[in-house]
Order: sequence, then structure tokens, then C-alpha cells
Amino acid sequence: MATSSRNCDRPVFRFAPSPNGRLHLGHAFSALMNERLAKRFGGRLLLRIEDIDVARCRPEFEQGIHEDLAWLGIRFDAAIRRQSEHFDDYRAALDRLQAKALIYPCFCSRGQIMRAAELKETETGQPWPRDPDGAPLYPGTCRCLPPHEAGKRVASGEAHVLRLAMGRAAAENGGEVRYRLFDEAGRVTRVAAAPALWGDVVLARKDVPTSYHLAVVVDDALQGVTHVVRGRDLEAATDIHLMLQHLLDLPTPRYHFHRLLQDETGQKLAKSRMSEGLAELRAHGITAADIRARLGFA
Ligand code: GLU
Repeated sequence: MATSSRNCDRPVFRFAPSPNGRLHLGHAFSALMNERLAKRFGGRLLLRIEDIDVARCRPEFEQGIHEDLAWLGIRFDAAIRRQSEHFDDYRAALDRLQAKALIYPCFCSRGQIMRAAELKETETGQPWPRDPDGAPLYPGTCRCLPPHEAGKRVASGEAHVLRLAMGRAAAENGGEVRYRLFDEAGRVTRVAAAPALWGDVVLARKDVPTSYHLAVVVDDALQGVTHVVRGRDLEAATDIHLMLQHLLDLPTPRYHFHRLLQDETGQKLAKSRMSEGLAELRAHGITAADIRARLGFA
């Protein structure tokens, strides 16, 4: 897998929405923050369409992303990368991890994982550990399957995901992983990552040869991204990205996690809660200048 050179002088930023709904004010905030910081640091700004979820992503939402961003007046550099067109790149990364015996097939359903975690809780009388998003850690059921049995089940077409063997990955990686956080003024602090808190994360889903974590890491490297600006909701998951960058020998960008916009009830804006979309605001006569002013980017 070729990685882009990092010795080009200009920083590279990216905005990476998923076309599984229309953009709302939270997306606008993230895109405008990327625009602001790219300008401030003399960088380029790329657009990436994160459409690996073939069931939920739709062409009309992708079209909507382009319309909304053009309306906001945000200009992107160079070609747009659509993840669904690059599954080979993710497969190549999986092959590299496979060659180091760092991934394994897992045949468990979500329900089975829940039940296994509940059983462990009953057995031990202790709460089963959860990942930073609150989901029970994978109890490792398929990690110990004899390779010939796992291989047979894969060959027979049984549905499975591919998981990172986090214990082995941490051993391979050795020691602490640190990365650089930057603030809006460009000041940098080094922080430690704790990827092990996530357990054996999924790196390839049942239906596609990647997961969000793997695709984002591979793409940031292939696109030469030097500065990742995204919401605080992705701060904890970045620790997984750090681990993958180390395992795949890819450069680690600097990161900035911006605040999340909240609705009147104090909840994070989300497509799933039908937060008012940019298109609706536009239909109500709100202008792009109004949005910029409202979000502090006038
Ligand atoms: N595609 C992700 C989202 O829409 C963002 C990914 C990222 O910034 O790394 O939430």
C-alpha cells in the first residue's frame, strides 16, 4: 500500500461526512472549523465521503452533502475520495495485519456477545468491562478457535467479522502510544492513548472488508492528512486509530477535537434524532452567512 509523502510543506486537513442522512448544524460546525484551521495554518482542505455502510448510505444524501457544503461556501481541494471505491486499499491493510496474525474471524452475533458478557457477570459477580462507548468488551469467544476450524467456517461462507487481537497488538506495539493534540492557536500537547480499553475491535464488518476505524486510518495516510479536526465524540476512538497507525507503520496526524453542538435538551445534535438539517434551514430562508454567524465563523 503506497502512503503519501508527508514532506510536502502544506498541512492537509479533511472533512469526512457519511452520506447516511442530511447534514445538520453539527456537521456545518465541524466543516467550518476545518476550513478555519486549514486557512489559519496555510493548509489544504480535502473532502472524503465515508460511505462504507452500503445499507445506510444513499446517493441522494451524498448529493445533499455536496449541495450543503457548496451553499455554505466551503471550498475543497483536489479530488474527493469515496471510501466505497477503495475497498482494495482496506483489504491490503487487513492482509498486512493478517500476515502478523493480529486479526481473527469472529462469528458471534451482537446478541451472543451480550449474553456471554452477562454470563461472565453472573459467574464472577463483577460488572463485565465496557468500552469507552459503553458497549460490553468482546469476551474473546472466537479468539481461541483452532485455526483449522475458523478457516473451515470462513470457507463455508459463514458470516463473520474480523477483529483485532488487541492483546497481541499491544504486545507487538510495546509501551505507550502518544500523539499530538493541537488547539485553535496551534499549541501542541502530547497525550497518551489507551487503545486496550476498546478490546478486540472490529476491523472488517460482515458485509464490507473494512470498518470505520480501519478505513479512516488507511485513508488519512493515503491522502497525506496531517491535521485531523473532528468532534469530541471521536476522541476516545482515536486511540484505536493510533494503534492501527503503529501496526501498519503509517504516520500519525495531529488531532484537534472540537466541542459538540447541543440541542435545547442538552443532547448532541445527531441525524438519528432528526436534528434540523441545513437544507431545511435553507428552505426557511436562513442564509449561509446566518449559519456562519450563528456558529461563530462570521
Ligand atoms: N465519518 C465520520 C462521521 O461522519 C467522521 C469521521 C472522522 O472525522 O474521522 O461522523
